[in-house]
Amino acid sequence: MTDQNAVLAQILVALQTLETNQSALAATVEGIQSRIETSSTVNQLKTQQLPRPTDSPSVDPKDLRQDTNGHILSSSPPPRSSIDSQRPSISLGEPVKSLPTQRRSSITSRIILTTYPGQSGIDPVPLTWGEADPQKRGPVVVSRHSKTIRKRNAIGAHGGSYSIYNALAVAAHHLDLEHKPDFTNTEPAVIIGPFPAWSDKRKIVAMDPLGHLAPWLYKDLMQPPNDLDIRPTIAVTKAHMKIPELEDSVRKGRLVPDGKICLNSTGELAVTKFAVEPVWYLPGVAERFGISEADLRRALFEHTGGSYPELITRNDIKVFLPPIGGLTVYCFGDPKAMSDPNVKLALRVHDECNGSDVFGSDICTCRPYLIFGIEEAVKMAQQGGSGVVIYFRKEGRALGEVTKYLVYNARKRGLDRASEYFKRTENIAGVKDMRFQALMPDILHWLGITKIDRMLSMSNMKHDAIVEQGIPIHERVEIPEDMVPEDSRVEIDAKIHAGYFTTGKVMTVEELNAVKGRAWEDIEH
Ligand SMILES: [Zn+2]
Repeated sequence: MTDQNAVLAQILVALQTLETNQSALAATVEGIQSRIETSSTVNQLKTQQLPRPTDSPSVDPKDLRQDTNGHILSSSPPPRSSIDSQRPSISLGEPVKSLPTQRRSSITSRIILTTYPGQSGIDPVPLTWGEADPQKRGPVVVSRHSKTIRKRNAIGAHGGSYSIYNALAVAAHHLDLEHKPDFTNTEPAVIIGPFPAWSDKRKIVAMDPLGHLAPWLYKDLMQPPNDLDIRPTIAVTKAHMKIPELEDSVRKGRLVPDGKICLNSTGELAVTKFAVEPVWYLPGVAERFGISEADLRRALFEHTGGSYPELITRNDIKVFLPPIGGLTVYCFGDPKAMSDPNVKLALRVHDECNGSDVFGSDICTCRPYLIFGIEEAVKMAQQGGSGVVIYFRKEGRALGEVTKYLVYNARKRGLDRASEYFKRTENIAGVKDMRFQALMPDILHWLGITKIDRMLSMSNMKHDAIVEQGIPIHERVEIPEDMVPEDSRVEIDAKIHAGYFTTGKVMTVEELNAVKGRAWEDIEH
């Protein structure tokens, strides 16, 4: 019997080893597979052009030359006088030709305050936004590395809001400026596209459509003698995710494990994730907001403490990597189904609310709606369609948590009425909302989404922005009544009154007055 047990134990160990080896092998094969897929896509893109947009209205530079205030608008280098008039308070930078070839430290080197087009040594890598041929389109080059600084064709820095941490790491001597990223095995886990919108400069203006392939598409430019610092702005990976509420969904039979998308009775999910950093094509962003490029550049310069003088001095550079949060796409089921017009698509576009999403605050419907969105997305994928949740880092309506908590205090110390909900925010921030959904649909274009069958959102702003971009929404789905936390009635009723979608009742002002939230005293218990 003992011998038998020993043999069984040995077999078990052997089987476990086999299993480990097998998964290691599978991971290796997958790694090779994604490398092959990326390389074949890169080769395809190198030899062919991106599909041209069928309805790509081009912007006539003449139309963009001047707005009613006489501001110069983009597209071609402005007359000298306009540059001069735009730089009254900027000190001239040292000519770039005097830049030391080796920048040993950011502290001892000469500081370049700004640069000008046509200045000696300035030679930006061509970047033609919307160009169908990726080689003619060119890479986004933003690094101030000594080899790249004169060739930059973009303003700002990589990493979105984390660019500041990057600067801090340099200042604290934790990050060697000569460090070169090793991109081995970092290729996208799945390949999608290319889609016609990738070469439509009016459809994608807030992200780089080639951002996931940059180091592989422009490998030659990263080798000597160019040695350009080119980095991806999109990364694609696969993962499992576990959300406690989904275990309950399985128990109640709303979610059925299939071993593929919903993996087991704990509600564990298989997901493909796309992380996207913001890359703005300034003429396109300005157009989306109906403002002039010059006004946009000036506001971005002046209201970030004068952080990016080249917004003013380098009108020849059209791309800006802003220091803001990006977005993450959570795709359930086959990622290729997102762009398949023959299968149904369920979509939740969710703006960050850390207090609720992560920490379970009950003052709003954010986490419940997010969970509902994920559940519905999974169900759609299980039915052979596609389920997508897109998470935007726009905390507290892009006003941030400090403003958000000030609003909470003002609400709780006064009468927390639905009728006062938006006014409280406006009194403090000056606006109701700064999320500006106008740039949000870019990611839908990038994913190849051409219609939405089930839109898991009640927001009229999100709805209108998507429809304005030519993506029809067939059905809008409200958060189920039983998922609305008690204290968040104020928020949801105020939103419905302000125009959020509902199939239920829209309250009158009097009725809205009667919807009150929990008071301070209740919170302190
Ligand atoms: Zn919230």
